[in-house]
Amino acid sequence: MESIQIAPPASQTILSLDAPSQLNPLLDRIAELAPDTDREGEFPENAFNELADAGLLAITLPGHDLDFTQGRTARLLHLLKRIGSANLAVGRVYEGHINAHYLVHLYATPAQQAMWYADASQHHRLFSVWNTQAEDGIRIDKVNGSYRLTGAKTFCSGANWVQRPLITGHLQAESKNGWQMAIVPTERVGEIRQDERFWQPLGMRASASFKLDFTGVEVAESDLLGQPGDYLRQPYFSGGAIRFAAVQLGGAEAIFQATRSFLMAMNRTDDLLQQTRLAEMAYLIESGNQWLQSAGDKTDQWLAQGTDWATIVGYANMTRTAIEEICLRVMPLAERCVGARGLLRPNPFERLHRDLTLYLRQPAPDATLVDIGKYVLTNPQQADELWS
Ligand SMILES: Cc1cc2nc3c(=O)[nH]c(=O)nc-3n(C[C@H](O)[C@H](O)[C@H](O)COP(=O)(O)OP(=O)(O)OC[C@H]3O[C@@H](n4cnc5c(N)ncnc54)[C@H](O)[C@@H]3O)c2cc1C
Repeated sequence: MESIQIAPPASQTILSLDAPSQLNPLLDRIAELAPDTDREGEFPENAFNELADAGLLAITLPGHDLDFTQGRTARLLHLLKRIGSANLAVGRVYEGHINAHYLVHLYATPAQQAMWYADASQHHRLFSVWNTQAEDGIRIDKVNGSYRLTGAKTFCSGANWVQRPLITGHLQAESKNGWQMAIVPTERVGEIRQDERFWQPLGMRASASFKLDFTGVEVAESDLLGQPGDYLRQPYFSGGAIRFAAVQLGGAEAIFQATRSFLMAMNRTDDLLQQTRLAEMAYLIESGNQWLQSAGDKTDQWLAQGTDWATIVGYANMTRTAIEEICLRVMPLAERCVGARGLLRPNPFERLHRDLTLYLRQPAPDATLVDIGKYVLTNPQQADELWS
């Protein structure tokens, strides 16, 4: 595929991921702002302005630090974790932006890539992937040379703050048929009706994951991404779970960090039981870090080698399952450490717990576990060689 170099706007200074002195203050500011948008109907606009100004909306584009063509997945996962630890809702929406750009990297034509890369790097436009839907999901019909959408998407994180949503729907045209991706240029199409009543969640309020009705919206042929069925192609479809797992681990790490700070501030660090709980949290978080490092490295290596997709998906399935388990163990440990007093605002624990509890609910957790079991029961390799 043709390589495209995208220059940042002349005035922009790109943040270096290797310089904690640049990344940490940005993440601290995002974390400080988090309580301000912990309300239904709110969205962390300031955080996204900061991410855009730091060049992080364009970080995976050709020639940039996390250029997808260079296979730096572990580094990307680390960034996703850090952003999730600052604000899980920001991490969720940012992960959607990265996911959309990965699909553009995989399936767009060179002309489409140039257009969508410029949207992110020059115009700071936010992307997302909205695939989830209910009974009234999306149908795409070809009408007079353009493509008309009918139906709605649920859990549209970022809602109308997103200018380039990647949506999916069932395309029925004479020449092609199936689950089709399209990137909607929101300023150029008719109204996308927003149902805010859908979004009355336990946590993750600031992700603004509304229900949006695309009925009547028309897109052009050049807005369609890839061919029908591409969105579901493996290992990319299920393998992407390592990205949301990274954001989730960020949520657990934030709880761990806040617990340490709380106990230090209360002068309760000498207690043996507190120490053992913190020990357990520390090794749980660190095992999550090891899962991410290993999943990132192995994914890059296996994709480069053309390894069977089932192996890549199997490892991603294990990573997301293990990290869900880690998060579910870290939360009650923190609750016991900080007690009822710690769970009162303005302490951050109640928000962090609500956000992580909701964000851990990702698609098909049972089927994921079953698939791991099937893989290891049908694979003839020695246990030691299953993932080497
Ligand atoms: C904060 C947040 C933001 C999100 N943002 C987006 C977004 O931007 N874009 C997007 O596309 N999606 C988004 N989603 C949706 C997400 O990707 C998942 O689709 C969604 O969280 C899964 O919903 P659920 O847990 O109700 O699923 P369900 O599939 O209903 O799962 C609930 C439980 O039922 C089980 N189950 C599933 N199917 C069956 C069955 N047939 N019979 C019996 N049991 C079953 C599952 O294993 C699980 O235990 C978001 C979700 C959250 C929480």
